[in-house]
Amino acid sequence: MGASFFTLMDVLSQPVLVLNSGYMPVGIKSVRDAICMVLMEKADIIKEAANLFIRSEKLKLPAPRIILLINYNHLPKRKIRLSRQNILIRDNHTCSYCAKQLSASKLTLDHIIPKSRWAEIQKDRKATDFNSWENIVTACKECNTKKGSKLLSELKWKLPPIKKLDPRLTPLLFVSNKTAEEFGWNEYLFYNQY
Ligand SMILES: [Zn+2]
Repeated sequence: MGASFFTLMDVLSQPVLVLNSGYMPVGIKSVRDAICMVLMEKADIIKEAANLFIRSEKLKLPAPRIILLINYNHLPKRKIRLSRQNILIRDNHTCSYCAKQLSASKLTLDHIIPKSRWAEIQKDRKATDFNSWENIVTACKECNTKKGSKLLSELKWKLPPIKKLDPRLTPLLFVSNKTAEEFGWNEYLFYNQY
């Protein structure tokens, strides 16, 4: 059996990209929820799946892939998650120690005060939490290895001031390129990527 075999339940739980009436991506719903919204005239289907159908004996409807909300032009409130992706964005994909700008695959996250040293540092000389925006920065692999479990003061390394992440720079939706490609969402997510 090929990968294209889907039961009705499988089809109904497939993801559908939801755009607001300004064509901005605002969420992901299941095919089932998307169809409900269309039936309630809250949304229109603007893209159907090429080879995914909702079938019954008398019915064969293509499953929606993208729906457009009618009369809904808001954007979701962006929650800024403490994530690798967001730290890299905040630091402009630049190593905080040697200032090299690199692709994401060549970058790591570095805890400014390493776990093994956290306990020995006085409270007023460190961030509130070990895993926090204040204690994690972008570092290239080389610098991260060199730093190891040392403190910046021991290495005589200086850290540029840590910026605040501008929420406008974070994507509206977290969708991997692979998923966007697979479901044909790319044209509505282009600005969403970086
Ligand atoms: Zn570096």
